[in-house]
Amino acid sequence: MNELPQKRIAIFGSTGSIGSQALEVIEAHPGKFSVEVLTANSNEELLIKQALKHNPNIVVITDETKTGKVKEALATTSIKVFAGENALQEVASMDVYDLMLAAIVGYAGLKPTLNAINAGKAIALANKETLVVAGEIVMQAAIVKRVPILPVDSEHSAIFQCLMGEMRNPIEKIILTASGGPFLGRKTNYLVNVKREHALQHPNWNMGAKISVDSATLMNKGLEMIEAKWLFNLKPEQIQVLIHPQSIIHSMVQFEDGSIKAQMGLPDMKLPIQYALAFPERLPNKFPRCDFRKYNNLTFDEPDYRTFQNLSLAIEALKKGGNLPCILNAANEIAVYAFLKNRLGFLEMTDVIEKTMQKISFIEKPSLDDYYQSDGEARQYAADLVQL
Ligand code: NDP
Repeated sequence: MNELPQKRIAIFGSTGSIGSQALEVIEAHPGKFSVEVLTANSNEELLIKQALKHNPNIVVITDETKTGKVKEALATTSIKVFAGENALQEVASMDVYDLMLAAIVGYAGLKPTLNAINAGKAIALANKETLVVAGEIVMQAAIVKRVPILPVDSEHSAIFQCLMGEMRNPIEKIILTASGGPFLGRKTNYLVNVKREHALQHPNWNMGAKISVDSATLMNKGLEMIEAKWLFNLKPEQIQVLIHPQSIIHSMVQFEDGSIKAQMGLPDMKLPIQYALAFPERLPNKFPRCDFRKYNNLTFDEPDYRTFQNLSLAIEALKKGGNLPCILNAANEIAVYAFLKNRLGFLEMTDVIEKTMQKISFIEKPSLDDYYQSDGEARQYAADLVQL
């Protein structure tokens, strides 16, 4: 018998890589969780399939042209169907769940997540762009509302786990590990010819298209540095990136006595997803275990900042702060979109981001409206550059 009541989960972005894996985790622990909200952008077929299987209270489809199909498919059930972008925010504010898994990709995840925080809901945060764009405002809202932000990103989950029991001990620095992506060791003469299909082949992780491209350019690691700054209240110089191609050490924390704690395991996103959903409990599972006899060569190296300049741009944004990370993020989303459509070369993504960062006005202490405006301006400027 379960002593704790079922945790009511809302999965925003349920049809994605993180969302689908979260549903697998929930399914593997009957009685622990109930699925209350599922959302998709345009993949109505998978949303319908998930809804019929998990019987949520509400589904949201952002693409309104798909509403009829979803309603028809769920007509014989009691599942309520909402549609449109505003519905995401509306449902996020409803008192029908306990924890939101924020697994929408990109800037689109910001407003629903903020609404959930303001409604006092716990957040399991996969959508790193939310903190990249408006980290200060999001974390401040979480403090005011006493809402926990539980990281899902494997590196941040690792740091979060290392910090358990260390409340009073300041962090000297964190070491964010990076696999290096599919182009580790490659130089610009190779990268210039890289196409969509190459960039989507990640050696260790199977992820959505946008984060796969971000991993290939190392922008992902830059976004994670900014995410870490806000989650753990760090200064830029306390965040170090280390290439660790085996992805066994998911990240480390160094304390003021020089002691370093690491969190390790096989690379499998279901583990940090499960940890965030069940926190503070650790649930048993049957995931494969890490056998160190098979991993007797864990290696570490400095990132190649000269070749992977997106990482350098993200570090610039991290250091300068203000609305620069928001501008970087917006330009990157446009650049990645254009690359995935074969409209922009791999290295050209850096040019678009750099030019946009130079063009859009810098604001040192932006309000939420400033962020929305900077995002819009940066998107427009970057889209003009790539002639979208
Ligand atoms: P996917 O692209 O696989 O899924 C994205 C989800 O968001 C889908 O449900 C998609 O719906 C929905 N979505 C996309 N655009 C919109 C929009 N404009 N409005 C509303 N919903 C939208 O992404 P991932 O699951 O890979 O990543 C999700 C987030 O988690 C990202 O921020 C990523 O950085 C982060 N993350 C992912 C990891 C991974 O292993 N995948 C690891 C760590 C972090 P539809 O299917 O209908 O398009």
